[in-house]
Amino acid sequence: MNRPVRPPSRRPVTVLAAAALVCAAAWAGHHASRVAALERQGERGQQQLRLYSQTLASELARYDYLPGLLGLDDRVGALFAPGDDAARVASANLYLAALNERAGTRAIYVLDRQGRVLSTSNWQRTDSYLGEQLGYRPYFRQAIAGNSGHFYGVGTTRGEAGYYLSAPIGNRRNPIGVAVVKVGLEALEVNWQDANSRVLLADENDVVILASNPTWRLSALKPLSAAERARFARTRQYNLAPLRQIEMTTLEVLTGGEALVRLEGSPPLLAQTLAQPGTPWRLTLLSPTAEVARAAQGGALLAGTLAALALSVAVALNSRRRRIAERLAARAALEAANDELERKVIERTADLSAANRQLQAEVAERIRAEANLRKTQDDLLQAGKLAVIGQMSTGIAHELNQPLAALRTLSGNTQKFLARGDLATASANLTTINQLVERMGRITGALKSFARKNGGGHSVAVLGAALETTLFLLEPRLKSLKPELVRELDPSLTVACDANRLEQVLVNLIGNALDAVAGLDAPRVELRAWRDGDTVTLSVRDNGPGLPDDVRARLFEPFFTTKPVGQGLGLGLTLSAGIVGDFGGTLAADNHPDGGACFTLTLPAAKETLTHAR
Ligand code: ADP
Repeated sequence: MNRPVRPPSRRPVTVLAAAALVCAAAWAGHHASRVAALERQGERGQQQLRLYSQTLASELARYDYLPGLLGLDDRVGALFAPGDDAARVASANLYLAALNERAGTRAIYVLDRQGRVLSTSNWQRTDSYLGEQLGYRPYFRQAIAGNSGHFYGVGTTRGEAGYYLSAPIGNRRNPIGVAVVKVGLEALEVNWQDANSRVLLADENDVVILASNPTWRLSALKPLSAAERARFARTRQYNLAPLRQIEMTTLEVLTGGEALVRLEGSPPLLAQTLAQPGTPWRLTLLSPTAEVARAAQGGALLAGTLAALALSVAVALNSRRRRIAERLAARAALEAANDELERKVIERTADLSAANRQLQAEVAERIRAEANLRKTQDDLLQAGKLAVIGQMSTGIAHELNQPLAALRTLSGNTQKFLARGDLATASANLTTINQLVERMGRITGALKSFARKNGGGHSVAVLGAALETTLFLLEPRLKSLKPELVRELDPSLTVACDANRLEQVLVNLIGNALDAVAGLDAPRVELRAWRDGDTVTLSVRDNGPGLPDDVRARLFEPFFTTKPVGQGLGLGLTLSAGIVGDFGGTLAADNHPDGGACFTLTLPAAKETLTHAR
């Protein structure tokens, strides 16, 4: 058997597409959340940077005025008076030391035109600047040129980093010396350390001058060229610091000058830079991006889940739609099947109606045929009866001729006796004549009754009476054959059968028995009847030649006879069996073990009381 070819399943493709969709949504969620989180963090970072920048600017501005003021003080001005006076230097030293302490600066000192330290706040220390030649320092050069100097550098004496502010003393165009204030900015770093983020301040050379992590201080953010390193050596800007390079890898450049970087193997950090106003410096904030990664993951999860949810809803809706469509299709198919069924029912009903009409027509035909058959049967029965009568006619004629001859003689004699006046003899003759006429009447009456067409409607017959009539009808033959007639029966037994028909059957059976015993030395016919439950059985046995097998096989066939032409028609047993069958009885023929044929007739015993039985 061919299996139906199913279309290839699209399920794996659908599952792959759904998975791709969920992944795409997760990716989009990841990207959007990351961008948003980076933006938020960027804004926070900018705020923080601005705050740090303002703090730094105000810290730097605090001391801005200080170098310019120094030149106004007499004790400082006195340093430039002609001649060498240790007292003036001592006085200026004391003043500068007091000022340094009050202002909280690292050092305050005054240089002459050649860059030699004339007086300093740290005059008392062994490593005091006093007398040192600092003319090569950029802040001196800037100030001696008439400008305010700003410089971050590492001290050459003590190797201490600091912010140098310088101002010319005297006429700006032709200064007599330079006043310098060195400020330590490390306090800012302490503030920065509190923050979760890392902060660093790089100068114009990309050298870190302040950092939340002090180990980064005086490291380079980029590779330094040989020329740069030579310049640093000349100006001693960073003294002898090795300026190792901080390992910073850019992972991703973002908008607005921001970038994702990895600093010395750290996790990715968001790097934001702000130029410090009024300085060539740049403040850099490095904030961890773990939050961004978490937000991105969350976004991916959320978008993926939402997409999966939306897909599930879509799948559910789709399968619901399909189910509804299937249900509708099933309903439509059911309705179609129903319609088809109704159509078939109508067709079948029409067929059945036609068949029924045909059947009714056939039934009517059968009824007609049966009526015909019945009529034919009746005609046949009648013919059978008439045949019997014909057979009996010789005997009957003889039977009637005898009394007729006697009547003729008696009536002639009676006339003579009357003429003689012998009234007694005449009367006796008349009595005999009466008896003879009565007997003739009985014979013709029996014949008339036998020849009657139907049974008169009685369905109960007295067996004894029917037998009497039969024997009466057969009397001429009985007289001539003189058989021994054995009768063993209760004459009052009644059977459910028409009396006339029963007589016809008995005439046939006994007539056949008489035919069979004709010519025997001791002919005998035995008639027995008995009731067994609801059935009455009558057997007619003779001591004739019995029934040869070939005869027995054809006994009930119409027109089967072994008798010479004119004696037998071969209808007797056929009609008898038909009559008995009509009344619910049976007729069987057999050979008696002691010889002779034995016909057994059964009929239902009569139930109703007999009123008109003959
Ligand atoms: P018919 O008497 O006109 O021949 P039946 O139908 O009455 O027609 O009988 C058919 C045949 O059955 C008879 O011709 C006869 O050969 C056989 N038959 C009937 N009754 C007897 C009997 N009692 N003994 C021997 N043969 C019989």
